[in-house]
Amino acid sequence: MEVRKVLLTEDEMPRQWYNILADIKMNPPLGPDGNPVGPDALAPVFPMNLIEQEVSPERWIDIPEEVLNVLTIWRPSPLVRALSLEKALDTPARIYFKNEGVSPPGSHKPNTAVPQAYYNKVFGIEKLTTETGAGQWGSALSFACSQFGIECKVFMVRISFDQKPYRKSMMETWGGQCIASPSTETKAGRDVLERDPETPGSLGIAISEAIEAAVTDETGKTRYSLGSVLNHVMLHQTIVGLEAKKQLDKIGEYPDIVIACAGGGSNFAGIAYPFVLDKINGKEIDIYPVEPAACPTLTRAPFVYDHGDTARYTPLLPMYSLGHAFVPPPVHAGGLRYHGMSPTVSQLAAEGIIEPRTATQLDAMKAGMVFARTEGMISAPETNHALACIIDEAQKAKEEGKEKVILANWSGHGLIDLVAYDKYFAGELQNFALTDEELSASQKVFENFPKPELLKSR
Ligand SMILES: *Cc1c(COP(=O)(O)O)cnc(C)c1O
Repeated sequence: MEVRKVLLTEDEMPRQWYNILADIKMNPPLGPDGNPVGPDALAPVFPMNLIEQEVSPERWIDIPEEVLNVLTIWRPSPLVRALSLEKALDTPARIYFKNEGVSPPGSHKPNTAVPQAYYNKVFGIEKLTTETGAGQWGSALSFACSQFGIECKVFMVRISFDQKPYRKSMMETWGGQCIASPSTETKAGRDVLERDPETPGSLGIAISEAIEAAVTDETGKTRYSLGSVLNHVMLHQTIVGLEAKKQLDKIGEYPDIVIACAGGGSNFAGIAYPFVLDKINGKEIDIYPVEPAACPTLTRAPFVYDHGDTARYTPLLPMYSLGHAFVPPPVHAGGLRYHGMSPTVSQLAAEGIIEPRTATQLDAMKAGMVFARTEGMISAPETNHALACIIDEAQKAKEEGKEKVILANWSGHGLIDLVAYDKYFAGELQNFALTDEELSASQKVFENFPKPELLKSR
């Protein structure tokens, strides 16, 4: 019998996260005056212990015991070999995926929600505000806050709020509060509604609302929490890749290709960064973040300084950006509808260490169907983008007659996203083609900002 899945015991779980800041060169975030922002400027938004992690140069950072105790509810997660998919594709490639759908909310996101809730609790914070796209992050943070006894308020992007009502039910089950964004509760929300009352919303707008709600709270015991993009989020997710490396090691495998879908970049960073470290140290390995063709940040936007949110509350971050006011077309992969990209993922792409890919909404859904009818699992629409790339690579391996080892992050299940599948069956899903004119119009917003330097880490 061939190995179908590789499990680790709780004792074998990584005890430290990998911090890529130790191994790459970065442009600093800039304040409104164009000067680098120091850690203190972030203090109204995040607790100091997380800000320290955000800027830490240490390569390895200990995972607190209290965090491990919650993560073991579902971790270590299984590494599964997609034998049935391989067979259906008749490919010589061996395909392994890390199943992050086994967490209580059903995705990779609690890997950072849990440590973030923990560090806020330790710092004396009583309430967290956040945004959510498809609802995965909002439900992950609600779950994590319930584990540590803090309140959680979630601004959910309007289109997903309407498309995916059960995510709100999950948040409320864990004691969180969920409202549609843009809302009338914040100035950022009211401004957008005034300009465009019918807006589907965007992650950029919801981030502005959540930051505003945190910093204007008079108790001083509310902070904001972000589910992707930032350095400390990438850090927390590396437990995925570190586990995967141990699991592959157990069966004498090492990947030729690493694949994950990328919205803000944390799911990708989680599986990829431990292998990026190997690549920086000389290993030959192809590393592909996959984004939706309808929100082509890494593939059709420039590497610039831009704000992480629509109302321009965040510092200027060095990243690929479609423009902070860009409202992506309403694809079902709500978790991938973000105008920017994690600065560390952006730096790696700018240096060519990782090579971004895209998938259209229909190709992604088609890949999700193939996966469901072979491996059995119904994937989140976001995850389907990675599956489209896996299938492409497996077919390429067949054409070339090469036994490639493909490692992918299966970022979440789609059991709360079945409306996307319904629409696919009904022929109601479409691809969205963005013209160069549309893209260059949305990019005017950062024309006059400073430009990041092209730094070389290797
Ligand atoms: C949020 C989400 C993503 C995208 O996450 P990033 O870390 O921001 O790139 C991918 N897959 C699923 C299932 C998600 O919920």
